Amino acid sequence: MENVIIIGSGPAGLTAAIYAARANLNPLMIDGLTPGGQLMITSDVENYPGFAEGVTGPELMAVMRKQAERFGTRFITQNATKVDFSKAPFKVWVDEELHQAQTVIITTGASAKWLGIESEQTYMGKGVSACATCDGAFYKNRDVIVVGGGDTAMEEASFLTRFAKTVYLVHRRDTFRASKIMQERVKKNPKIKLILDSEVVSLGGSPFVQSAKIKNLKTGAVQELKVDGLFVAIGHQPNTSIFKGILDLNETGYILTKPGTTQTNIAGVFAAGDVQDHVYRQAVTAAGTGCMAALEAERYLEAHQH
Ligand code: NDP
Repeated sequence: MENVIIIGSGPAGLTAAIYAARANLNPLMIDGLTPGGQLMITSDVENYPGFAEGVTGPELMAVMRKQAERFGTRFITQNATKVDFSKAPFKVWVDEELHQAQTVIITTGASAKWLGIESEQTYMGKGVSACATCDGAFYKNRDVIVVGGGDTAMEEASFLTRFAKTVYLVHRRDTFRASKIMQERVKKNPKIKLILDSEVVSLGGSPFVQSAKIKNLKTGAVQELKVDGLFVAIGHQPNTSIFKGILDLNETGYILTKPGTTQTNIAGVFAAGDVQDHVYRQAVTAAGTGCMAALEAERYLEAHQH
């Protein structure tokens, strides 16, 4: 019987592990087949406090993991495949293997949605990004494309004009689903050029992105633009498929937590990081809520005298 099982190993999960391990809870982390979360596909991280010279995403995750290990966190590098939270102890399966715990902290994160074109893989971290806040500052006086027509795309396009010379906003339709106010802000910004009814079909350049082919979906015409970056902003998908019907989720699948806490609708089950936050989505906010979850789990265990 475990005191606490942590599912997911991004900054939220590893911070929860560091706190839980230092509180002598001997946490078990099920860290997934691709540990480290979204930071593993981020090149330089310049906004994580404590790294004055910046750090790469994978390096940051490696030191966080080492810190969690140092205090005795145990890892199972596989995906959790099924859970049963109907009564304590909570059950978590890794394929056929059953693990039971008094508390569970869910930090399975969210995954950026991608366009699905081959160039995305080729240029990942070399001009392709899904996070303007993370990577925008690398595009000073450069030209970039943002793809999407929702609030995220509007926000990222506006944000990128602080750095970039030109931001091309490529959207597959001629109307945006973004809120009016965000659309207006984009349309008024002289640095943003709209390319509507269009999609990005491929990228070129070596080793970094230097150009993009854009196809007009109405006319079929293809144009080539000189650009240095592609920001995909077509939404995120929370990794909550195994919790559907078990935990309360919002309409887009994010786990609902009680305001100001990491408590889910089931006492003893906590959620931290991007799996419950579609607003901030930063490594440092994920780490912050991971800390909260571990402290809340510790208090729950104390109150229930485990
Ligand atoms: P949305 O789902 O709202 O928008 C996704 C956009 O991407 C749509 O315009 C969609 O096009 C487009 N898209 C989806 N798949 C593809 C694809 N394969 N190829 C090309 N385009 C594609 O996601 P967001 O991330 O923008 O927003 C998520 C939620 O978060 C929303 O509720 C939003 O309001 C909220 N949010 C609020 C903010 C704020 O208020 N400050 C900031 C950011 C997000 P189409 O329209 O044709 O379907």
